Amino acid sequence: MLTQESQYARSLMEASLDPLLTINREGKILDMNQAYINITGQTRDKLSGTSFLDYFTEPIKTHEVYQQVFLKGSVADASLTLMHMDGKLTDVLFNGSVLKNKEGKVQGALIVVRDITDQKRTANELTEAKVAAELATELAEEAKRKAEQATHIAEDAVKAKQQFLSNMSHEIRTPMNAIIGFTKVVLKTTLSEKQKEYLTAIKISGDALIVLINDILDLAKVDAGKMTFEQTPFKMALSISAMLHLFETKIQEKNLELVKKYDSKIPDVLVGDPVRLHQIILNLVSNAVKFTTQGKITVSVCLLRDEEDKVTIEFSVKDTGIGIAENKLENIFENFQQASSGTSRLYGGTGLGLAIVKQLVEPQGGTIHVESKINEGSTFSFVLTFQKTKFQADLETEVVELNTEIKNIKVLVVEDIPLNQLLMKTLLDDFGFACDIAANGKIAVEKLLSNSYDIILMDLQMPEMNGFEATEYVRNKLNSKVPIIALTADVTTADLEKCKAVGMNDYISKPIDEKLLYNKIVGALKKPLLKEHMGKEENLNKNRKYIDLNYLIQRTRSDRKLMLEMISLFLEQTPSLINTLKQSLDNKNWDSLSAAAHKMIPSFSIMGISSDYENIAKEIQEYASTQKKTDKISDLVYRLETGCLQACEELKEEFNEINAINK
Ligand code: ADP
Repeated sequence: MLTQESQYARSLMEASLDPLLTINREGKILDMNQAYINITGQTRDKLSGTSFLDYFTEPIKTHEVYQQVFLKGSVADASLTLMHMDGKLTDVLFNGSVLKNKEGKVQGALIVVRDITDQKRTANELTEAKVAAELATELAEEAKRKAEQATHIAEDAVKAKQQFLSNMSHEIRTPMNAIIGFTKVVLKTTLSEKQKEYLTAIKISGDALIVLINDILDLAKVDAGKMTFEQTPFKMALSISAMLHLFETKIQEKNLELVKKYDSKIPDVLVGDPVRLHQIILNLVSNAVKFTTQGKITVSVCLLRDEEDKVTIEFSVKDTGIGIAENKLENIFENFQQASSGTSRLYGGTGLGLAIVKQLVEPQGGTIHVESKINEGSTFSFVLTFQKTKFQADLETEVVELNTEIKNIKVLVVEDIPLNQLLMKTLLDDFGFACDIAANGKIAVEKLLSNSYDIILMDLQMPEMNGFEATEYVRNKLNSKVPIIALTADVTTADLEKCKAVGMNDYISKPIDEKLLYNKIVGALKKPLLKEHMGKEENLNKNRKYIDLNYLIQRTRSDRKLMLEMISLFLEQTPSLINTLKQSLDNKNWDSLSAAAHKMIPSFSIMGISSDYENIAKEIQEYASTQKKTDKISDLVYRLETGCLQACEELKEEFNEINAINK
């Protein structure tokens, strides 16, 4: 029978979830709770009276702890291991404190062992996680270092590739220029049909090779982020029909039909990059022609949005050709992608065209899209935005008439490669220009000291003194303003900037297009005249209230003779038309009144006369032809007469001014 006291002590011991036991001074177990029984796997009877040390794994360490308890009176959180009778080990924290009797004499000790398996596991897991995290960080850093290294290598490789492509294309283009150029020259001579056929084949192959080289160069430029787009005014309709013209023969040969749909609401002149637009459509149409054996090719240009300052246009090229399988459509705009492995063998091509098209559309803010069904056909469409403009387009492709002022032209060709020298000489001979050749910049400078030339065509890469150095010398040391046109094989933006910076007036890329060369030479020779006159014009215009000749200058490309002719025509016809107006009004001859007013209208805009007068003339025409509000006509005729006579006065003065420059 337990006493009340020991009953109380027992309840306290059992209340603890931690294993708990009491021992005497010798270490023999006196009492224990159920938790201790559980953790050792023994029975109460078996445990009672045995040495508590028997249930721990490290006897020496445990003994030391036991001694500490009695030496110090207590031990806190000593780390030990308990053993279950079936061998299972439990990590515990050992806490012991001596038990004293009423006299304060140490009788034994109370021991609490706390199972810390879970804490240990968590701690282990935490350590492991920490180690893993540190390892992962290290790995990530290593990966980052490797990625940076790879980026450097890749960047170097791209640079090397670009350099290589640029050098190679230059090297290939130079002899190609000669091949194509001389083929063109020979094609102009008298040839037998067979010879013509063979030479044409050589020229076509040469042209194809140049296209390929340009394609590769374009892609290299895209890779290097060097693709640039011009913003020049151009005539969209003209540009597109000129390009489609190129396909006429091919389309006829294949018995196909070409349908062109052009939205008439598209403004005449737009600002954008006509050369790139050309390139995009050219690629799409040539694919359409290539992959179609029967049916038609429809090229549509459609105004999607018309805003105050810009228009959005959709271009589409639709064919009735072989089509593209659905699973190929997704990748068709990637480099070197062809719809099937047999494509190259059957149709030729490299799979670069569409990749370039995409790179020409998207950087301009446009989108491109394809729809296709096998054996039915494909439609490639793209959308681009163009700015509107008041300016006239600069029509490079239009042949500029050489006026009589520009004759006996002497050209200095600075070019180191003998084949190119000969080619340039042949071209210039054809134009009827005299030409002198210098094999490098240094010789050119020497020639300039003893001769005078109207214009210089300057190659860029030459031994001894290159084109840039020579131009710098001509501008800064010789103080000469002679127009210089650069002849470039590889037109990179950097080169063009440099051309401008050293003072070149223009550039033309090889292979030389003879029409373009002619226009550039004539344009360069005319520009100073235009500037000279424009300068005077600004001064004169200050006092001009009724006219503005800027439009006329533009229209005639500053051709003074033409300007004078047009002004004198206006001066001749205007007073007589005004007379007719007045007489017809007096006689109430409405038909002749309307006709005279109608005749006057077009000349107002040419002479830059305010549109108010054009509107007056239109009103007169309308009232006269409908015979309504005829009472108002008299006042209108009076206003028109006053305005026109003032304009004529001003035009007479202008006529004399221009005539004076001419002499
Ligand atoms: P290339 O014509 O030089 O092979 P492209 O990039 O222009 O390269 O075209 C890639 C591929 O897309 C072509 O090889 C062809 O398989 C397919 N493709 C392009 N346009 C058409 C088309 N109009 N009809 C059918 N297949 C086309």
